[in-house]
Amino acid sequence: MIDQEQLKCNKCGATIKSARVQRLPAGNESFKGTFRAVAYCCEECGQVLGVESNPLERDVQMEKIRTHTAKLSGEMEIVLKKLTSLSASVAALKPAPNEPPPKTKLKK
Ligand SMILES: [Zn+2]
Repeated sequence: MIDQEQLKCNKCGATIKSARVQRLPAGNESFKGTFRAVAYCCEECGQVLGVESNPLERDVQMEKIRTHTAKLSGEMEIVLKKLTSLSASVAALKPAPNEPPPKTKLKK
């Protein structure tokens, strides 16, 4: 594990406190199209420290999923409330449990 205090730019030697993020497309001839990537650059001189697939893009996708899930669970809650009120209505239609069923009244 690298101590954060030890992170230095290999070009200008500045201590890296935070990296400047640059969005860029990534790909090659055999890879159809490009995907979004980011480069991490030294804030002092702009030296590229590393490149990886865009974590922000992943966050955007995750956020979309989260929003969709929240919306779905909200809809589920509405359905559940409707079901609860429906089952209450059905229960109201049934004779009360302490009332004897009509058949017993006919018996002698
Ligand atoms: Zn630098």
